[in-house]
Amino acid sequence: MGANIKILSLGDIVRRGWNVEIECRCGHKGVVDAAKMDRWYMCHMWSTSISALRQHLYCLGCGGMPPAVRIRATAAAPNTARGRFPANEEGWKRLVRGLRG
Ligand SMILES: [Zn+2]
Repeated sequence: MGANIKILSLGDIVRRGWNVEIECRCGHKGVVDAAKMDRWYMCHMWSTSISALRQHLYCLGCGGMPPAVRIRATAAAPNTARGRFPANEEGWKRLVRGLRG
């Protein structure tokens, strides 16, 4: 019963059309747009493997890098970090230029 799907990277979640639920040890929890998060990590050339995501997360609940997080795929709509990502293609291009330049 239930599909035994291995989620190893953000790409695995994006391909299935899901989003990322992140729960910090402090109890703060949010759903982040997986496609945007994936692109964001790629732009920064960070690893998108699930086990490495924590290194670049910032918890709004306790502030700073979460000491421990639980990451799950979810069908829920994103409810946090909306303003965190570029709003359009031009914004993404600017981001990449800024990072590489
Ligand atoms: Zn926290």
